[in-house]
Amino acid sequence: MEKQTVFWGDARKAFKGSQELFTGDVQLSLLFPPNKTAQYSGAHGTFQPGARTAWHIHPAGQYMIVTSGVGRTGTRDGKILEIKAGDVIWCPPDTEHWHGASPDAPMALLLITGVFEYKNVVYKEKVTDKQYLGK
Ligand code: MN
Repeated sequence: MEKQTVFWGDARKAFKGSQELFTGDVQLSLLFPPNKTAQYSGAHGTFQPGARTAWHIHPAGQYMIVTSGVGRTGTRDGKILEIKAGDVIWCPPDTEHWHGASPDAPMALLLITGVFEYKNVVYKEKVTDKQYLGK
């Protein structure tokens, strides 16, 4: 019988999101990897005001659970949704989007990301200030 696994919080290290894939100050930590029967991974991200991801897709979709603050998420149709602590967003497979903090408040997110053919994300170009501000 398989035993339970603990991913100890004390052993976890946060890292800064790379400036090729993120704009601004983003701290990420990986909570758990996918396994044979649970084909999704977990991560936690903290975005300081103005910080956001680049445009990207998730081949098997992504749940975003806002754990604190206020942020926004945008799609290629130009729509930007304001999201705040307690909101849960489902992003369907292959939908180009970005997510980040609001211009004047930080946001923290729990990310549950599906895996398809060993991939959970494909990044595209960075989000311009114009796109981020919805102008
Ligand atoms: Mn995403």
